[in-house]
Amino acid sequence: MTEELNPLAIVAGQMKEACDELGLDPAVYEILRKPQQFYEVSIPVTMDDGSVQNFSAYRAQHNNALGPYKGGLRFHPEVYADEVKALSTWMTVKCAVVNIPYGGAKGGVKVDPRELSEAELERVSRGFIQKTYNMIGPEIDIPAPDVYTNAQIMAWMADEYGKISGKPGVGVVTGKPLNFGGGRGRNKATAQGTVHCVEEAGKKLGIDMQGATAVIQGYGNAGSFSALLMEDLGAKVIAVSDSRGGILNRDGLDAQAVIDFKAENGSVQGFAGAEDITNEELLALECDVLIPAALENVITSENAADVKAKIVGEAANGPTTPAADETMYENGVFVIPDCLANAGGVTVSYFEWVQNNYGYYWEDDVVAQRLHKKMVDAFEGIYGYHEEFGVKMRDATYLAAIKRIAEAMEVRGWLSK
Ligand code: GLU
Repeated sequence: MTEELNPLAIVAGQMKEACDELGLDPAVYEILRKPQQFYEVSIPVTMDDGSVQNFSAYRAQHNNALGPYKGGLRFHPEVYADEVKALSTWMTVKCAVVNIPYGGAKGGVKVDPRELSEAELERVSRGFIQKTYNMIGPEIDIPAPDVYTNAQIMAWMADEYGKISGKPGVGVVTGKPLNFGGGRGRNKATAQGTVHCVEEAGKKLGIDMQGATAVIQGYGNAGSFSALLMEDLGAKVIAVSDSRGGILNRDGLDAQAVIDFKAENGSVQGFAGAEDITNEELLALECDVLIPAALENVITSENAADVKAKIVGEAANGPTTPAADETMYENGVFVIPDCLANAGGVTVSYFEWVQNNYGYYWEDDVVAQRLHKKMVDAFEGIYGYHEEFGVKMRDATYLAAIKRIAEAMEVRGWLSK
């Protein structure tokens, strides 16, 4: 992998720049440049045919200066250690951005869940908890859904944790089903946060979302809800894609019909009334809003100059490399960085955990209103840094977050004497 694409090198560079810009004690970067703990475990699973497969799994606990470690757990065949460490660092930044009392963590199981039966998936999920039971907990480290994990997987995990501990322990993971301690609004929360940010950016740039055109790369949880929510604002979703490729209809797609089509056919490609395009073609489309909502390193130095969107809202983690970010900045593309744009997910996870701790559950409108306030406050704060320091929104995001984390480390007595 080239240095441009190594997420750990990318995040270390981003941190270093922000620490230098803020003139912080060198101890801040020294502590933040690597996770506090990193675990690698293996999960032997008896498959339906009686054979045993041993899956590698990772959990990185980056920093807990602001509160318990928090972050998703992905099931993906390509998951690797440096990626998980980088993603855990972004979680620390993200939680500080929206000012919730959490540090950052991330996990991954190296498995392709699309190749497993439901029973095998359950055994992998319970196996992860059996192997990490001592490292996680409602006051220690709280996993949540991420790429290819969902509410059902969280339910198996919370149940397994409960069985081992002999306590309900529902607050051990978030993103659970509603009838098992889940919080309202969690499913669409990541996308909702992104769309709130896109709307705020539109106000700053004088772009009305009513009638705007939107392109979505990735059509899983974050991508498909982003499409629906952009439609709710009156935007026209002209193209979407998944790992197999994309589809385009300049008159607008019906986002829900595409969700239904993908559920039946496994991909968005082949959707009637749209032409098939490649992911590369999709990223280069003329549009108002582009939402990358899949994996890292999608917009790179190879294709950043082709991006014609006015606003890029990063629902994915790490979709843009630093070189690509610079190119888009020079070309006047307004990029809302991941740690701000996708922080709605962890924010509503936080709400869920608070509700679990209280045993008192909020209505939809309460969640919606509190999420909206969190996102608008975070956006405004970062936009303020962006204007004041004359820096990219991404740099402003790091400045705001690291300042907050450094203050917590200072008060705890972690820094140089
Ligand atoms: N996986 C999501 C993220 O990357 C959510 C994490 C959480 O809810 O803890 O932000």
